[in-house]
Amino acid sequence: MTSSHSHLAETDPAVAEAIAGEERRQEENLEMIASENHVSEAVMEAQGSVMTNKYAEGYPGERYYGGCQHMDTVENLAIDRAKELFGADHVNVQPHSGTQANMGVYFATLEPGDKIMSLDLNHGGHLSHGHHVNFSGQFYEVEQYGVDPETGYIDYDEVAARAAEFDPHMIVSGSSAYPREFDWERLGAIADDVGAYHLSDIAHITGLVAAGVHASPVDHADFVTGSTHKTIRAGRGGMILTTEEHADAVDKAIFPGGQGGPLMHNIAGKAVGFGEALEPDFVDYAERVVANAKTLVDVFTDAGIQPVSGGTDKHLLLLDLRESHPDLTGEDAEDALDDVGVTVNKNTVPGETRSPFVTSGIRIGTPALTTRGMGPDAMTTVGELIVERLNNPDDPDVASEVREEVDRLCAEFPVYE
Ligand SMILES: *Cc1c(COP(=O)(O)O)cnc(C)c1O
Repeated sequence: MTSSHSHLAETDPAVAEAIAGEERRQEENLEMIASENHVSEAVMEAQGSVMTNKYAEGYPGERYYGGCQHMDTVENLAIDRAKELFGADHVNVQPHSGTQANMGVYFATLEPGDKIMSLDLNHGGHLSHGHHVNFSGQFYEVEQYGVDPETGYIDYDEVAARAAEFDPHMIVSGSSAYPREFDWERLGAIADDVGAYHLSDIAHITGLVAAGVHASPVDHADFVTGSTHKTIRAGRGGMILTTEEHADAVDKAIFPGGQGGPLMHNIAGKAVGFGEALEPDFVDYAERVVANAKTLVDVFTDAGIQPVSGGTDKHLLLLDLRESHPDLTGEDAEDALDDVGVTVNKNTVPGETRSPFVTSGIRIGTPALTTRGMGPDAMTTVGELIVERLNNPDDPDVASEVREEVDRLCAEFPVYE
């Protein structure tokens, strides 16, 4: 266990028990939700520190409160390390989440009613890219592009044609479930051609971009937003990278535009996590994340289960179950795997016919298992266990065999020693 939580156990046993339960759940299950990871104990120490007590509205050197000298130190460390990781001119580390980072960029550049063009949620996009249930879909007029239903790849000619027709103020790129590398240069050029801003949302691939394992959009986008808890292990939060030209507008849009006091304990966590990502072994980690995802692609393809687009360039794959398991919905698959200690999420697939609560696919990611130290052999076993379970979702004997193997793997690769 990571810590005894001895104060908490005494003063609030109900919460202490829930935290202990969550620690056990993380240790005893295979976390394959593509957007999740395990941070280091150092990041958690920073997050669980006295930094949570302090108001620090404003930015380093220009705060609205006294006593901010140590706040300035950690925020500057987070900013400087992010600049080094991503080669960006200007960084804002205050967004409370990836969604609020996107909100900051929209508020810095757009008026209500302006037009944005983004990847369809069913094709891998994100709620904050203009979905009607999100503020972004309510404030702005949205046109969406998708992937080619045959290949599963984005058709950039189609994006260019749609952009010329729609004439957006902003093109949003980036995704939650698109397994392929983005052509940032092409997207930047399309945005230039129609006089639109290019916002590249690298929420899922922040760590892969930092490590140079996925191409960086920094030179091809006006704004890059990211989350700090997915493929980079810097704790829950968001960030914005931009050019000097837009630096002031972005900073004002975050504070005072959309947030009050920054979450300084989380910013301390970001500083620590970014520092860890600057260590040489982080590149090795990011490479192993992608290699592990490719290993899974091979196992699933051999078993006749189709990954959308035929594979992956990243940390995630999207399995389309319609051909191999026509009667098994994404929801069924998620439940069947949950039963045996493998945590994934159901996901819509391109050309989806079922509802988003049911779906025909599952999204599987490797960042968390890679953090546990798993390599190609363990990942092959994990893939085979998933196949075994999906092929026998109602067989209790298979379920207990798979669960036993999951237990063995979890014991062999502890999250926190
Ligand atoms: C995860 C994600 C975000 C940010 O999500 P939060 O939960 O708000 O931190 C933003 N964009 C994309 C594409 C994402 O996948």
